[in-house]
Amino acid sequence: LKKEEVENIRADFPILSEQVKGQPLLYLDNAATSQTPTAVIDTIVDYYSRYNANIHRGVHHLSQTATDAFEEARATLQEHFGVDKPHQIIFTSGTTHSINIVASGMSALLKSGDEILVSAMEHHSNIVPWQMLCEKTGAVLKVIPMNEAGELDLKAYSALLNERTKMVFFNHISNALGTVNPVAQMVEMAHRVGAAVLVDGAQAAPHLVVNLKELGVDFYTASAHKMCGPTGIGMLYGKEEWLLKLPPYQGGGEMIAEVTFDKTTYADLPHKFEAGTPNVCGGIAFGAAVKYMNSIGLDKIGAYEEELTRYASEKLLEIPGLKIYGTAENKTSVISFNVEGLHPYDIGSLLDQMGIAVRTGHHCAQPIMDFYRIPGTVRASFSFYNTYEEADRLVAGVQRAVNMLQ
Ligand code: PMP
Repeated sequence: LKKEEVENIRADFPILSEQVKGQPLLYLDNAATSQTPTAVIDTIVDYYSRYNANIHRGVHHLSQTATDAFEEARATLQEHFGVDKPHQIIFTSGTTHSINIVASGMSALLKSGDEILVSAMEHHSNIVPWQMLCEKTGAVLKVIPMNEAGELDLKAYSALLNERTKMVFFNHISNALGTVNPVAQMVEMAHRVGAAVLVDGAQAAPHLVVNLKELGVDFYTASAHKMCGPTGIGMLYGKEEWLLKLPPYQGGGEMIAEVTFDKTTYADLPHKFEAGTPNVCGGIAFGAAVKYMNSIGLDKIGAYEEELTRYASEKLLEIPGLKIYGTAENKTSVISFNVEGLHPYDIGSLLDQMGIAVRTGHHCAQPIMDFYRIPGTVRASFSFYNTYEEADRLVAGVQRAVNMLQ
């Protein structure tokens, strides 16, 4: 992306013109939640202004219009992620929900002594549901270790895989370190021992062109609110054979074929996993967000963000005592750092006083913090609407905060 293009893109995001504490907002908390372009905001307003209705069951015009728009959004996601059939995309409330659908369903398919592997760099949402699953089934959770650079140890991973391994879980990009994991290779290794793979794509879907057929994953998750869409909506992708095998997560309306007090049969995909009234507006807005990102091009977005992250990292490292965690060769969009002798929270609070939004803490990835023996980090996470001038402003802000604290 050229400077001019980024300026045009910024004009699509009303919030970027906001002032915070008397300064122009500098938003660098994109890994937590991305901002929303007018195209998506207008989609939401249009939905509630013109065709708000419950879907799938209605014979009336509004219900039909809403149903068509919701299913069109599913088709947009299907195409975007290189998926064969629309019903392989399940609308969920987000990545956490998506992972819980799989973890909960797997409890019917695992037995005591089965092994499941989880990576050392997971978000809590990709750790806790598997621990709960292990408690229920007697399966054993094993951890794929990482090195100092924040890269998974593939030799150790290979040694952990065996015929007892039934499932493997890891994220595509780490939210705390920015590491991009070698998904296709890791999937192939898991499949060789017959294990299924779930990849948490919450951080990758906003930055990379993701073709799920090429990656070969069995399950993949994403959250719209990290992809220029609204909160409360996300997706679960599954290979058809897995979605058919997995029991439903919630019972209720929409997910049934036939109900009697003796027995209920479940609806076909995707409805089997979409009990109750879905987030209709959210689903439609998710589709609009993906279309918006594609109008710029995810390849261009990813390349720009990588350059910008590298630029900001190099500048930040000029600050004495500053250390960046996560120095993998293949990383993007996230800079997690500390300054010697200073608490991340203090730096974050001072940056906030300057209108700069970063995140501080363990980023829902306590095991990573334990690995580095730190309480947390300051995390600046970049999006394609961030600029080189903003990167300079971040660096100047951190330097100023350091001067004030030391
Ligand atoms: N996994 C990763 C890697 C994440 O970054 C996040 C969000 N911080 C999640 C899972 C959870 O996503 P959500 O809160 O949208 O369910």
